[in-house]
Amino acid sequence: RADVAMYEAKDLGRNRICFYSQARQAIVNTRSAMAVDIKTGLDNDEFSLYLQPQVLKNGSLCGAEALLRWLPSNRTPVSPGTFIPVAESTGLILPLGAWVLKQACTIVTDLEKYQLPENFALAVNISALQFAEENFIETVKQVFDDTGASPSRLKFELTETCLVQDINRARNIMKALRNMGLQVELDDFGTGYSSLNSIKNLPLTALKIDASLIRDIEKDEPSRAIVRAALAMARAMSLKTIAEGVETGSQMAYLNTEGCDMIQGYLFAKPMPYEDFLSYLGRKLKIA
Ligand code: C2E
Ligand code: MG
Ligand code: MG
Ligand code: MG
Repeated sequence: RADVAMYEAKDLGRNRICFYSQARQAIVNTRSAMAVDIKTGLDNDEFSLYLQPQVLKNGSLCGAEALLRWLPSNRTPVSPGTFIPVAESTGLILPLGAWVLKQACTIVTDLEKYQLPENFALAVNISALQFAEENFIETVKQVFDDTGASPSRLKFELTETCLVQDINRARNIMKALRNMGLQVELDDFGTGYSSLNSIKNLPLTALKIDASLIRDIEKDEPSRAIVRAALAMARAMSLKTIAEGVETGSQMAYLNTEGCDMIQGYLFAKPMPYEDFLSYLGRKLKIA
């Protein structure tokens, strides 16, 4: 059985003399080994959703992002940065994504037991492959029917890769989601390569500014200018804004000054298991 260290394909070539084709073959082997393990992992309940809180300017809780974690039994956790690309390239992101959506809906249904802030919504990452599925909307509707979750408690995070293939179809799917009552956000804004023009006339509710832009706020003026411009553009299009990867008070202060609506990052909390999130929620509600 493949050791988890083998999964770090990028390490295979390091400190080793290796012909390109050999290295490539090793990566391919590693990927298919991991794909098999993802499949069995799904059957063996090795996946879980961690929640990372999202807060308003004043620090009050307004949502959370559901982030997939793989904790294989008897092995070290594998990071999403490693297994999501494999799941994407093998199509396994479809069953994984279905599991994530069902789990997220189950979580928001359970959360209704607590005095959630009225505007609280859970963000779920949707892969471009899921989004491209012919019966995507029907699948989503089915999950809401099965779990009884309120669509207004969910926001779908889409990336620009969802938009590039067929913008008209993307717009229609987004409209259908909005009509169901879901919020739709553009994730990782600022890292894509599609034109700004393509995001106008899309029924988005929010832009999520990528962590890579936030990271450099303190370093240089051009980075600040980009963040400032992104926020101004979102405002002009009546979109809400959320920043991810906020780690310092001065990043937060800058985002507040420039009118960013929501903040997510280690400054407030790291992604945490559901039970921990419930304790966090309890503390937050007591303070509020
Ligand atoms: P993302 O959607 O952009 O998620 C934000 C990532 O930033 C998460 O990484 C989160 O843990 C991390 N993060 C949040 N705050 C901070 C911070 O202050 N500092 C730093 N350094 N990092 C921060 P994570 O959980 O490793 O996920 C990585 C990516 O994997 C996600 O990026 C998303 O693209 C993908 N992913 C995760 N869960 C799912 C899922 O359920 N479905 C799909 N399709 N993709 C997922
Ligand atoms: Mg995301
Ligand atoms: Mg993101
Ligand atoms: Mg990101």
